[in-house]
Amino acid sequence: MADPASVAWSPGLRSRQLFDEAVAVIPGGVNSPVRAFGSVRSTPYFVRRAHGARVEDVDGNTYIDYVQSWGASILGHAHPEVLTAVAAAAALGTSYGAPTEAEVLLAQAVCSAVDGCDMLRLVSSGTEATMTAVRLARGATGRDKVVKFAGCYHGHSDGLLAAGGSGVATLGLPGSAGVPASAVSDTLVVPYNVVPDLDDSVAAVIVEPAAANMGLVPPVPGFLEGLRSACDSAGALLVFDEVITGFRLARGGAASVFGVRPDLFTFGKVIGGGVPLAALGGRKDLMEQLSPLGAVYQAGTLSGNPLATAAGLAVLRRLSDDRFDELAAVVARLAAGLREAISSAGLPVEVPVVRTLFSLFFSAETVRDYEGAKAAASSGLYTSFFLAMLARGVAFAPSPYEVGFCSLAHEEADVERTIDAASEAARQVALQ
Ligand SMILES: *Cc1c(COP(=O)(O)O)cnc(C)c1O
Repeated sequence: MADPASVAWSPGLRSRQLFDEAVAVIPGGVNSPVRAFGSVRSTPYFVRRAHGARVEDVDGNTYIDYVQSWGASILGHAHPEVLTAVAAAAALGTSYGAPTEAEVLLAQAVCSAVDGCDMLRLVSSGTEATMTAVRLARGATGRDKVVKFAGCYHGHSDGLLAAGGSGVATLGLPGSAGVPASAVSDTLVVPYNVVPDLDDSVAAVIVEPAAANMGLVPPVPGFLEGLRSACDSAGALLVFDEVITGFRLARGGAASVFGVRPDLFTFGKVIGGGVPLAALGGRKDLMEQLSPLGAVYQAGTLSGNPLATAAGLAVLRRLSDDRFDELAAVVARLAAGLREAISSAGLPVEVPVVRTLFSLFFSAETVRDYEGAKAAASSGLYTSFFLAMLARGVAFAPSPYEVGFCSLAHEEADVERTIDAASEAARQVALQ
């Protein structure tokens, strides 16, 4: 394993001070585990502000940012139209607990962009969206079992944490303490990219249509189509968790890119423009089974919050089809540059791309599932490379199990700087 101690990045003084204070009052110093930098054997930079493609830490260092709030900031940080919309909404009140016009506009915007999404319910996090999608699928089918894929992350509700990808993978956990066996006894975990056999006990198959929480693992040809027909034969519902891919791969999300229509969708990240907002949507006959119309209960004090809907609408308004083509072109250039830079340093590398998403596997093998992702992460090369990139002013995700997020604010010069940094960083890592 590479020795991270010889890689020259450590957080600045103020970040270190804040982290010391944080660990005394916040478990692990962070409010979401991967932010702690544990898997890259360091401690985090604390952010003071961000603009466009860049974040600035409290010590005044700036980084070209490929985290972008885990994909929530597709226009780039602090986009002026988002800021204006949020400020205007805030001036009218921050929450009412009563319906608003913006909720209707946002639901209309999503339903008109996504084929097969007839109705939408807004919530505040992706976790809530997937949790409710599963409850709705069980309520609608009268069945209990849920099939999920190893390495796919669907938030942190009890029943979906098994073999969870993302932070669960980062921490090397099989699942989580505090989840009773009874909570996961109806969750079946199967390998990604293999169509499972389903029987009539299965309520739903939930899947990231392009897996983006174990690095990026594209669906092999036939996988999503196979899930669709297996669900149809078994009478189970197909749920696409598009919390990352929705309004990231295309306006119509992964369902439109891959041409497979699920029964239910979940969205998050992009659609809130960096303010807490997520949603579940899908077929009208299913969505009408949610309370208050139907028997499947769901609610939320801050659901459809006016600051979040204002931000979301401002983002969706800008996301015409050509924006996704632009973003895909930036990602294609970046991925090709990273591949070339890292492989010419003699390191094994795979840079999978799905239109506007990419990730880095330091592996000579194509990764198709969670086992492959874990094997690629085990070399420790990601950690060394990550730290060497931070030292050169480029922030990738602090875990080998995450993907890279470009924004529409990333310019050609940012991409070229990133590739130059990657050439140097890879050479340094190769010397270790
Ligand atoms: C981020 C994510 C979630 C969870 O969303 P939160 O808003 O963090 O609760 C669910 N599914 C996928 C695919 C995600 O990437």
